Amino acid sequence: MNMEKEFSASTRERDLDSLGETVFDAVIIGGGIIGSGCASILSQLGLKPLLLEKNDFASGTSSGSSKLIHGGIRYLDQGKLLLTRNLLKERNYLLENSELVRPVEFRILTGSGSWKPWKIRLGLILYRILGGKNKFPVFFKNTGEYGSGIDGYFTYMDAVADDAELVIYNVVSAHKSGSICLNYTRAETIERDDGEFRIEVRDMVSGKKHIARGRTVINAAGPWASEIMGLAGLQFREKFRLSRGIHLIFMRDYLDTGSALAFKSKIDGRQIFIIPWEHVTLLGTTDTFVEDPDQLSIPENEVEYLLESAKYVVGKLDREKVVGSYSGIRPLYGEGETPGEISRDFTVVSDKGFISVLGGKITDYRRVSRRVALETAKYLGVQVRVKGLPVIDYSRKNCSDIYRHILKYECPLYTEDVLRRRTGTGLFNPEKRDEEMMKIRELFGKNMKDGEPDGKRPDS
Ligand SMILES: Cc1cc2nc3c(=O)[nH]c(=O)nc-3n(C[C@H](O)[C@H](O)[C@H](O)COP(=O)(O)OP(=O)(O)OC[C@H]3O[C@@H](n4cnc5c(N)ncnc54)[C@H](O)[C@@H]3O)c2cc1C
Repeated sequence: MNMEKEFSASTRERDLDSLGETVFDAVIIGGGIIGSGCASILSQLGLKPLLLEKNDFASGTSSGSSKLIHGGIRYLDQGKLLLTRNLLKERNYLLENSELVRPVEFRILTGSGSWKPWKIRLGLILYRILGGKNKFPVFFKNTGEYGSGIDGYFTYMDAVADDAELVIYNVVSAHKSGSICLNYTRAETIERDDGEFRIEVRDMVSGKKHIARGRTVINAAGPWASEIMGLAGLQFREKFRLSRGIHLIFMRDYLDTGSALAFKSKIDGRQIFIIPWEHVTLLGTTDTFVEDPDQLSIPENEVEYLLESAKYVVGKLDREKVVGSYSGIRPLYGEGETPGEISRDFTVVSDKGFISVLGGKITDYRRVSRRVALETAKYLGVQVRVKGLPVIDYSRKNCSDIYRHILKYECPLYTEDVLRRRTGTGLFNPEKRDEEMMKIRELFGKNMKDGEPDGKRPDS
């Protein structure tokens, strides 16, 4: 017997049509990792949330990350011990409880321009004390596998996950527990009236407008958070900053480093990662202040910066061998001259039932969601216990026909929703992309729109 609950284009239509009938406990704006995590936890607590996402779920920053579930060795260098400890706790929990999160061995390189070996050893000992799961750090000499400026490396364990898939699992899990989740539905105006929020939303597929009503609003719009605060007439927070990071993708048979690598760029001393997946290898990332959350371009100078930074480690990489790239905008909250100096921690700001999340990391999404759930419950005057809840009540493990399953239970509307954010083929297995696209078209015909609507990230 199938225990899933239908979550498809048809249920979406029905949910949109009956939107005005319910006053939701929380209207969550933003279907990235934070919004989906909040929807998941609130519905597990027996509250009634509505999740609104203007594009597809996970189409914002939550599919544009480095895909690390980690404590952040770099944050130790900045003295952020508590943040690292919290992140490691979350990493360990997800490693033990999520089928999407898997361990990965990293090599952290030492040599000219990089960290000194004693500093790395100390950092890794601290990392082990704070998060366990690692052995005492041992130094290995570079025996020619890396550039001549690299003396050697230490190994350590962290984890990776397909960020978009993690969001989708959270959304489906939230839907299963009673949350209404609507992709391609944009919040356009927010009014507060008689203790209730009235949000005008637009169905981005039909263009029709609907009204959603909520006792609270959770602003989980990531880099668009200040825009949403503006809709509610709240003041922009100066400490809220945006930074863009890009990644380049190579086929693994061209760039295969075996283990994932972490090293400092010889150009400016920033940390760079090279992370092999099954078929491709990711190289990233950059960290550049931007003003606009839609500034998702992939500038040539940032591409050059990544290629040049990697050259000293793995040799010259041919620009022509870049098979894909993507860009994401970090929502950051804190102070710093450069984006790298700004804390990766989050803050929750509450204003009479309007709750905004500013900053945060994918790794930390459960901690953020718990904080937001407590804040929401406090405003609603209900008692909740947020500890010990199951991570996600959803799995694809036993499904026999993945595409039919996705169409019926994960609500994709466009082919890119499947390729980019449900199976990940578009990113992680580009050679299979066309084949998969044909299969989806054949199977679903008119039930699936081609590509994705305008105004999306310029992944290539
Ligand atoms: C380059 C880069 C690398 C990173 N690497 C890592 C990493 O390795 N590990 C890690 O833990 N973290 C990493 N991060 C951080 C992490 O990706 C982000 O903190 C996280 O994805 C933010 O999630 P979010 O849900 O807040 O925002 P988003 O994922 O952007 O979600 C917000 C959503 O709100 C929607 N929205 C906006 N306006 C409206 C509206 N009016 N109506 C409805 N919906 C709306 C948007 O479409 C968007 O989907 C990285 C970030 C970047 C940019």
